[in-house]
Amino acid sequence: MKLILIFSALFGASLCLETFVGHQVLRIKTRNEEEVKKLQLLESLEHLALDFWINPSTPDLPVDVRIPANSVQAVKAFLESYGIEYSILIEDLQVVLDKEKEDMAYSQRDRSSDSFNYGTYHTLDSIYAELDHLASEYGHIVSKLQIGVSYEKRPLYVLKFSTGGSNRPAIWIDAGIHSREWVTHATAIWIARKIASDYGTSPSITSLLNKMDIFLLTVSNPDGYVFTHTTNRMWRKTRSKNQGSPCVGVDPNRNWDAGFGGPGASSNPCSDSYRGPSANSEVEVKSVVNFIKNHGNIQAFLTLHSYSQLLMYPYGYKCTEPADYAELDALGRAAASSIQSLYGTTFTVGSICTTIYQASGGSIDWSYDYGIKYSFAFELRDTGRYGFLLPASQIIPTAEETWLGLKKIMEHVRDNPY
Ligand SMILES: [Zn+2]
Repeated sequence: MKLILIFSALFGASLCLETFVGHQVLRIKTRNEEEVKKLQLLESLEHLALDFWINPSTPDLPVDVRIPANSVQAVKAFLESYGIEYSILIEDLQVVLDKEKEDMAYSQRDRSSDSFNYGTYHTLDSIYAELDHLASEYGHIVSKLQIGVSYEKRPLYVLKFSTGGSNRPAIWIDAGIHSREWVTHATAIWIARKIASDYGTSPSITSLLNKMDIFLLTVSNPDGYVFTHTTNRMWRKTRSKNQGSPCVGVDPNRNWDAGFGGPGASSNPCSDSYRGPSANSEVEVKSVVNFIKNHGNIQAFLTLHSYSQLLMYPYGYKCTEPADYAELDALGRAAASSIQSLYGTTFTVGSICTTIYQASGGSIDWSYDYGIKYSFAFELRDTGRYGFLLPASQIIPTAEETWLGLKKIMEHVRDNPY
């Protein structure tokens, strides 16, 4: 039995769907630097196999952590011995996962027509089929481009929204670079239909598309996304093999050529924030970099993550303000208030470093340093009640409010060429 466990831990877990029975997610509140240090110590205890959904960084910011069943007692004892406060966000993760799976199966079964259900989570194949569907339904403005192939040889597809003209200024939007952040893929595909169907009816989108193109990458990390469906719902990284290590994958948002190897990224291949052997080592990152460089006229770079409800601009690899700080901050605040106007969802606005923590090798730092002034990262719903396991019933509200924030930024980009 023990041998089987070791075998499946080493080789892949691709044997079956990983179970999270008895895993708890705790929210920990730190009150001072001392307590943050204690949590960083906890983080370094590899035998506990903790999965920090929000890393310890500064006091006042909550820390969320998934704890395997057999580490729960030890972690609670650790926290209690130092008098650190915590609450239980998720009592048994597997119960939430079972519910998610059931909802997905139900909404597939329940489909009354052939049309794509935007209010549920989908497999990669199902999302890719919908990209084709959109490109045929809205053929006058939507086309599908392949910008590369993933490590496991899956195509990387971008939808191009264009009303013509050659090499127009353009806006880049991507989602799902971290594969477990499912609401981002779901939001991106909803937004694809929204852009296509709003052209010709919404004055805002019509004027935007008469001047600019939009490129949308709905699944930035397809290998990871497939893995979250087949094997481990909590997978975040790519699926590339690491030389000399049994651990798989690189954190693709620590792999960009911006402060690469600096603070807030790990050099340990087994870490969930492993930066990779070199900048752009991940083909999923390199393909986007090549596309943007070849295009030559991308005016905005917008990326969707979850969760925490944040809207962030550079920098993450350093804690100094970007040259365009005043404009980016004002625009971020305007976008956050557009988001809030629909359902009251509040977003915190700021630079990555001041809002969460120093993190090197991130995409919007690369795009900003490359010269794309309007570089923003969204962290969508929620603030930790469900974390990465946001119920499907929240997909459409999340997409609707996110769209208002994106639109606010895109209108500003349209009206402020540079
Ligand atoms: Zn993320």
